[in-house]
Formats: sequence, structure tokens, C-alpha cells
Amino acid sequence: MFTPYFKKEFTLIMIKPDGVVDGHTGAILERIEKEGFQIRALKRLVLSESQAGAFYYVHRERPFYGELVKFMASGPIVAAVLERDNAVAHWRKVIGATDPAEAEEGTIRKLYARSKGENAVHGSDSVENARLEAGFFFAGLDLLS
Ligand code: UDP
Ligand code: MG
Repeated sequence: MFTPYFKKEFTLIMIKPDGVVDGHTGAILERIEKEGFQIRALKRLVLSESQAGAFYYVHRERPFYGELVKFMASGPIVAAVLERDNAVAHWRKVIGATDPAEAEEGTIRKLYARSKGENAVHGSDSVENARLEAGFFFAGLDLLS
């Protein structure tokens, strides 16, 4: 990821197929801006299974990997790079726990997730992974000024 113009930290987020198909894209984008993030890159696309598998390669040995890959390739997603102070940790707080049953009230997963697997949104878990994941979806030319 080509990042010399970022002034603050950034994270890579996805609205997963359930979030898009269930009609929550607008509400989630509105929440992103309300939380003080700048949307620096944004696109909607459908991942192939091999692309979804590559994104989640780190989980390849986990029992849920096959199901996760199929789900992530089952429909459109929205991917975005969000800039803000403390972007990685703040987004993780805004989305809540992986399982919506364990997520705090008002978090995006509590509000919109269907289940632990189909849980509406993704967020990078570290600054280093944000850089890798942003580079998976976007090139420097895609950054919004
Ligand atoms: N996942 C799942 N079952 C599990 C754990 C995770 O289906 O027991 C899926 C879920 O969609 C999750 C993704 O795999 O968001 C990646 O898992 P991770 O532990 O990284 O959770 P996250 O960082 O998304 O909260
Ligand atoms: Mg994770």
C-alpha cells in the first residue's frame, strides 16, 4: 500500500455479503463518518473463492475456513480504507465481538450481524495487517485525496 499521504493511522474494513445483501451499507457508511473516520478508498466487488481464500489465508487451518471462504464469495462486499487517530483499535471497538451474541449494545455486529460467521463487517486486527489488507484491495492510485 502506497501511504505517504496518510496523516493518521488507517484500517481496512469490509462490509461482508450479509451486510450488503441485508441492506446495511448506507447505515454502516454513515456510522463510519459519525465515528470520525475519513473514507480514503472505497469499492464494491464480488470476491472469487480463491480471492476470499487468499484474504483469509491466515485462518487456513481453522475449522471454519471453508465455510468462511464460501460465504465471503457468496455475494457483493464493500471494502474501504478508513483513516483516523487510533483507526485499528477504534474500528474494532465500533464493530464489537466476532460473535454478535457477545457484542456490546450499539456495536455494528450487535446491530446488523446474522451470526458468528455472517457477522456484517471485517476490521484489521493490527496496523501491520491493515497495511497488508489495504494493499490486497487498493493501489496508491485508488486513494481518495
Ligand atoms: N469465524 C467463524 N467462526 C469462528 C470464528 C470466526 O465463522 O468460530 C469467521 C467470522 O466471519 C470472523 C472471521 O471468521 O469474522 C475471521 O475470524 P477472526 O477470529 O479473525 O474474527 P474477527 O477478527 O473478524 O472478529
Ligand atoms: Mg480477524
